[in-house]
Amino acid sequence: MKAHLQGVTDTRLRPRIKTQAVVGSALVMELAQMGSLNALSQTEGNCFWKEWITDSVLPSADTIGRVFNRIDVCALRLILKHVYSRLKRNKALRPLFGDRLFAVIIDGHESSASYLRCCPDCLQREIKTASGIKIQYYHRHVTAVLLCEGFILPLDLEMQRPGEDEVAVAIRLLERLFLEYPRAFDMVMADGLYARAPFFKKVVAHGKHVIAVLKDDRRDLICDAMGIFTQEQPMVVREKCRTRQYWDVEQMTSWPQFGNVRVVRSLETTARKQQKTGKEEESVSDWMWVTTLPKTLLGTEAFIEMAHKRWDIENKGFNELVTYWHADHLYTHTRTAIEGFWLTTLLAYNLFHAFINGNLKPVIRAMYTKAFIARALAQELCCLKKRRNRSP
Ligand SMILES: [Zn+2]
Repeated sequence: MKAHLQGVTDTRLRPRIKTQAVVGSALVMELAQMGSLNALSQTEGNCFWKEWITDSVLPSADTIGRVFNRIDVCALRLILKHVYSRLKRNKALRPLFGDRLFAVIIDGHESSASYLRCCPDCLQREIKTASGIKIQYYHRHVTAVLLCEGFILPLDLEMQRPGEDEVAVAIRLLERLFLEYPRAFDMVMADGLYARAPFFKKVVAHGKHVIAVLKDDRRDLICDAMGIFTQEQPMVVREKCRTRQYWDVEQMTSWPQFGNVRVVRSLETTARKQQKTGKEEESVSDWMWVTTLPKTLLGTEAFIEMAHKRWDIENKGFNELVTYWHADHLYTHTRTAIEGFWLTTLLAYNLFHAFINGNLKPVIRAMYTKAFIARALAQELCCLKKRRNRSP
């Protein structure tokens, strides 16, 4: 990893502290899930830093913030790509279905919002409050994660610029993915916002398939599909408390801006007994997707299982990154710094999960939570400091 950190630069003219020392320090802070540059600076006396930053000292919180304002984010992306390549070469990445069919999930995420603090690259929106309409400043980016058996692997992200649409950002991100990860995935999965012709055309033009949630935006397609579904007998799967009904139609022609598509619907009815009243109540979950993926590649049941995995980017991705990895913390408020810290967090997340999945025996993995292992890493920094202080 040290060799790859050497490739990261920034635009300072006469740097006293090397960029690799700054990024290496931030990476350790992320790995230890500290979420604070000041907390990191308190580990300054730790003998670990002599081994990790050989010809320098732990940079101050101010220096790390200043350097991330000017950092070359492309070099951070190259390290993320290197981690992916190593995992792929070591056969640590397995698809969910079959020998191939790797999927990339694309989704937007708002990383910060404020009425007071802003920078030239902040996005703006009007919010109605009790004291009138206020301008809120925020940052948002689109992230791509690779869906693998057992875990997800974030690959890249793209920041949204003022006046830009989220789908346009996703298309820019996809263009880079097609260039840097041409054989890493076979399909792209996204939510209802991405069921648009330019997005579908971009994915298909690169020989990939696409799955998107079907919402009211594509009313013609929904109406035509529902018309066909009412005439067709659904596939029915009955489980203990749940009944699933599936419809699956190919060669739908109701989306002239794009072309023929397949539409899949899953209607799930679950019976639950209310704890308070003891009465049984039914909850209904109705999902529809539009896709270019033919039935010959993925049958109806496998398709629905795969399509529901889109939630992994929320449940295993953003939720964990924000709650445990402090990914939304604004270390420095500039677009470059936000992008740089997010990419460093994704790198730490990938290294951590590669270690958990590749280096720990299943019995150890089952014994300790991920949060416990992360805390053990953070404690190691403090323990080393104590040991050094005890010995003369
Ligand atoms: Zn800003």
